[in-house]
Amino acid sequence: MPKTTDPTLSKTRFTSGLQCLKLLHLGTYSRELADPVPASQQALFDSGTHVGVLARQRFPDGLLIDAPYNAHSRAVTSTSKALSDAFIPAIYEAGFDFENIRIRVDILSRNSDHTFNLIEVKSSTSVKPEHIPDAAIQLHVLEGSGVPIGKTFLMHIDNTYVYQGGDYDLDKLFRLEDITDQARSYLQSVPGSLAAMWEALHLDETPPIEIGPQCTRPYRCAFYNYCHKSLPEHHIEQLPRAKPEFIDKLRAAGIQDIGDIPPDFPGLSANQQRVRNAVATGRPYVGPELADALSQATYPLHFLDFETFNAALPAYVGTRPYQVIPFQWSLHVQDSSGALSNISFLHDGSDDPREAFTRSLLDAIGPQGTILVYSSYEQTIIWQLADLFPQYQERLSALPGRFLDLLALVRAHFYHPNFHGSYSIKAVLPALDPDLTYSDLDIQDGSLASIYFAKMIAPDTQAHERERLRNALIRYCERDTLAMVHVLAALQSMSQTTTPQS
Ligand code: SF4
Repeated sequence: MPKTTDPTLSKTRFTSGLQCLKLLHLGTYSRELADPVPASQQALFDSGTHVGVLARQRFPDGLLIDAPYNAHSRAVTSTSKALSDAFIPAIYEAGFDFENIRIRVDILSRNSDHTFNLIEVKSSTSVKPEHIPDAAIQLHVLEGSGVPIGKTFLMHIDNTYVYQGGDYDLDKLFRLEDITDQARSYLQSVPGSLAAMWEALHLDETPPIEIGPQCTRPYRCAFYNYCHKSLPEHHIEQLPRAKPEFIDKLRAAGIQDIGDIPPDFPGLSANQQRVRNAVATGRPYVGPELADALSQATYPLHFLDFETFNAALPAYVGTRPYQVIPFQWSLHVQDSSGALSNISFLHDGSDDPREAFTRSLLDAIGPQGTILVYSSYEQTIIWQLADLFPQYQERLSALPGRFLDLLALVRAHFYHPNFHGSYSIKAVLPALDPDLTYSDLDIQDGSLASIYFAKMIAPDTQAHERERLRNALIRYCERDTLAMVHVLAALQSMSQTTTPQS
């Protein structure tokens, strides 16, 4: 794409430029190369927008600058009028343009001394280091535009707030943190950062920046796949639990592929050595204790998986922001003959799902046999439910003692080169049983399941759409437990047919 001679910056571009100048350049001129935005990330954006709108009510009677982002001049003109009207106590989405940097400010609150406070709203539950530059670039533009700024605040969600029903108590739902000192201190570095960004934006080609820790910090880069596509299949970044400094050491030694790491390379942990050996030889690592670990499982085997959601804004009385709420489970039961059956539960009302979830689960799980899970997540939820429902506490508390965590077992005793550094069941299943996939399903990951659930119970969702979402959720959760059945079978087979390695 031809480069514009008059590029502009925004808050987003500024923070992109701080992360990586190549990201800034690609994001400005080559958006078409970006990774598709996953539905789960889009849902996070939508939730953030909803939180932002609610947050305005903490500064009531303000004026919304109602101009879309592509009508920036209109936003700037309307803002200018609102600033000069002393009867307007707060301005939402105020627009400014200073030295080709265009910003919209979440909330500007008017003070009695003719200054304004700058309020940046985030859906997070605390102030994070990456929020400070975001506020500082706004300070730079506002003060450059002649707006006197008193204090700078970050307003975030307070996850200790307990919803009591009815309207949210906004004084408790949101917490205002004074970040004036941090933002002003950061402001000193802004001109230098801007100079580097303008220089990058005037380059005809993307800046020649190597991939590195900046590709995932503080955010996973939107061009991650574009920049990583020509890397070796077993790139060193896939090495489990490798610190950025260790990856830098490997790079400095000219090593890009895990299989090329010398076995005695200083700093390789025992597990990383197994991963290195599996990649170098193309053969899975089978630990000497895998067979013993698998033999702990007793019939009937119960393969259990939960789906949950954790919304920023609490939906049920007595719950907190981001509290995890289980709404669905799937259970495959296998007897010693290999016969397999499935039973599942999916809440489908707008009320709190937890009691129906708990009751149905306790009714479905037989009194004997191992309960296989993939991660400690289900155990955590069980303990939370036991605390919540004294009437089910005894029966719930008896379950975790029967749990066998397949994830912990795989981590400790097995590695396949095709895991590519991930022990997630979505990575483990195709390596162990390529015939069973998620590709025929509408939902292919848990974060999408929570979005489907929210849509399914939304009052304005039509009956036929609700049915479609319901079927998709049931099929997804059922596939997760079936995947565990197949993973266990593959591990049992490997442990019997492969010579273990130390
Ligand atoms: S993937 Fe990494 S190197 Fe490529 S643009 Fe993003 S941050 Fe920069």
